[in-house]
Amino acid sequence: MTTPTAEGGTASPVTVAANRVLVLNSGSSSVKYQLLDMSDHTRLAVGLVERIGEETSRLVHTRLVGGGLTRERIGPVADHEAALKAAAEELAADGLGLDSPALAAIGHRVVHGGLRFTEPVVIDDEVLEEIERLVPVAPLHNPANIVGIRTAQALRPDLPQVAVFDTAFHTTMPEYAARYAIDVETADAHRIRRYGFHGTSHAYVSRKAAELLGRTPEEVNVIVLHLGNGASASAVAGGRCVETSMGLTPLEGLVMGTRSGDIDPAVTFHLERAGMSTDEIDVLLNKKSGLVGLCGDNDMREIRRRIDEGDERAALAFDIYVHRLKKYIGAYSAVLGRVDAVVFTAGVGENSAPVREAAITGLEGLGLAVDAELNAVPSGAPRLISPDCARVAVAVVPTDEELEIAVQTFALVGQAHN
Ligand code: ADP
Repeated sequence: MTTPTAEGGTASPVTVAANRVLVLNSGSSSVKYQLLDMSDHTRLAVGLVERIGEETSRLVHTRLVGGGLTRERIGPVADHEAALKAAAEELAADGLGLDSPALAAIGHRVVHGGLRFTEPVVIDDEVLEEIERLVPVAPLHNPANIVGIRTAQALRPDLPQVAVFDTAFHTTMPEYAARYAIDVETADAHRIRRYGFHGTSHAYVSRKAAELLGRTPEEVNVIVLHLGNGASASAVAGGRCVETSMGLTPLEGLVMGTRSGDIDPAVTFHLERAGMSTDEIDVLLNKKSGLVGLCGDNDMREIRRRIDEGDERAALAFDIYVHRLKKYIGAYSAVLGRVDAVVFTAGVGENSAPVREAAITGLEGLGLAVDAELNAVPSGAPRLISPDCARVAVAVVPTDEELEIAVQTFALVGQAHN
C-alpha cells in the first residue's frame, strides 16, 4: 500500500508500521480529532465537528500532508456516532482511513479519572464502567467522552483504545492539598475532593519548561499558568504536581473566560434564597461569570482593545483577572518553597504580553521579573521572557495536549503494534 509522507509526497510501497495515533476529544456538542504520525510527531490531519445535534452542525477537516487541504460541511449531524463516522469518511477520503494498518491506537481525552486512574490505560469493559461511575462528579464531560469511546470501539473493535485523563497528573497532590476542610464522611460519601483538570497540559508544559532550562523535570520546581478560556494554575515539584487551582470541578481557582473561579460558597446559598434555582446558579457561575460576566467579553484581545479605548469595565475585568493570577503565583511560591520558573501557556498565556507583564510586575520580591522586549516578541516557540539577571525564570511554553495524549497513548500500545 502507499503511505502519504510527512513531506506530502507519496512513498513507494512499504511494509506499513503501525505508527499513527488518532486523538479524539469528545465534548458535549463537539468532537475534535487529530491524526498523528508518531515516528516524527507530525500531524497528518486535524478536524472538528461542532454543534452536534443541531441543524447547522459543522465539520471542518484539514489534511496536512500532500499539500494541505481544508474541507467544510454544514448540515445536521445527529449525534456523536454520526460525527465520528463523518470524521472517519473525511480521513478515508485523504487515504488516512481508520481501517489503515498504520493506525496503532485511538487516544481519548477523558476529563475525569477520579482517584483510580493515575496514568493512561487501555480501555476495556471494566475501565469504561469506572469512567461511567465517575459521571456524578463530571456530569458535563464524562458522558460525552464515553460516547466517543463507544463509537470509536464500534468503528474499530480490534484496535486498542486508550484513555488519557485530565485529572491523572494531579493525583500526586498530597492529601492535605486535595481535601476540602469539610466533614470527612460527607466528602468521602460523595467523592468530594480537589481533583484538578488540564493535567495533560500541565504535565507537558512543566516537562518542556525543564527542557528549556536545560534541566530534567526532577531537578526543577515550576508554576504553570494554563490561561485559555478555561484557566488553571499548578505547582509542580520535581516533575510531580503538588497543588492545582481547579477542584472537584473546573469552576474553582483563577478567573476564567466565563467561570468565576474562587468564590465564597455562601454566594450560592444567598442566590438560592433569593429565588434562583441550582441549575440557574450553575449556569451563572460556569457560563456567565469570569471575564464575560465582568465586562461582556471573554476574548483577551477584545478586552485589551477596549482598554486602549478607555473602557473602564474592561479595565476592571483585566485587573481582577490579573490580581487573582498574582495571588496564585504568590501562594504557589510559598507551597513550593523554591521556584525555578513561572510558565505561561494556552491562548492567553501564550499570546497576551500585557497579561504576562501585569501578572509578574510587582513580584520582584519573589525573584520574578519580565524583560519588556523579550515579552513583546510574538513566537510559537518555548522561550524565556525574564531578564538574564532574574533569580526565577519566566517562560512561555506553547501547550500541545493532543501531542501529549498521542505520546502517552503510543507509549502504552506502540511497541505491541510495531
Ligand atoms: P480553550 O482551549 O480553553 O478553549 P485556548 O487555550 O484556545 O482556550 O484560549 C482561548 C483564549 O485565548 C481566547 O478566548 C482569547 O482570550 C485568548 N487568545 C487567543 N489568541 C490571543 C491573542 N493573540 N492575544 C490575546 N489573547 C488571545
